Amino acid sequence: MLCPCNVNMEKVIEAAWFAARKHTHQRRKNIEDIPYINHLLEVANLLTSEGKVTDEDILSAALLHDTIEDTGTGKAEILSVFGPNVLNYVLEVTDDKALPKAERKRMQVKHAHSLSEGATLIKLADRISNLRSIAAEAPKGWTVDRQLEYFNWSWKVFEQLPETRSPLKGLFRKTFEEGYRIVQDRKANEKSLQAKMEILRKKLRAHILRMARFGPP
Ligand code: ZN
Repeated sequence: MLCPCNVNMEKVIEAAWFAARKHTHQRRKNIEDIPYINHLLEVANLLTSEGKVTDEDILSAALLHDTIEDTGTGKAEILSVFGPNVLNYVLEVTDDKALPKAERKRMQVKHAHSLSEGATLIKLADRISNLRSIAAEAPKGWTVDRQLEYFNWSWKVFEQLPETRSPLKGLFRKTFEEGYRIVQDRKANEKSLQAKMEILRKKLRAHILRMARFGPP
């Protein structure tokens, strides 16, 4: 039966299968070690369910958006299997790994305004997925400051994205606001824990000094 939305299902499923094989041994950075493909499927699902995207090239590129950057897949391979539109979308949301991390982040903000509509939607869905994931659970080894920094950087990228009427824009704002509050609460908890630890440390120091001076009670 033909899909009523005219999506080329074969191409999209091929992209999901391609991505699953390329990312087989990768996991998300959270405690549960969620398979990486979950992130890619979430991004594609956000595009269809929230963004109402039916373009197979955008959906395929969403599934493939991390292949070049994270699995070393060559441009030629994506071009030969999925064609130039998909490759261009993927390249638009791919960082130049030859650059230092801070510079890559700066470039993302700088180039965000020049993204095509398709790449803008992929970028929004990608960020929504990442912010949701950080808000749900801090990535392994990430301090709260690093989490806040990621949120702030994502907002800077968001501000530079071209105008779009997609509902994903509103969803990004909502995800950002809710997630930011959660991470700020983590920061506040961290501070109060540090304050409690400091009080305990002082008490312990005083106790040790008393013991040294007067002997055990
Ligand atoms: Zn991603």
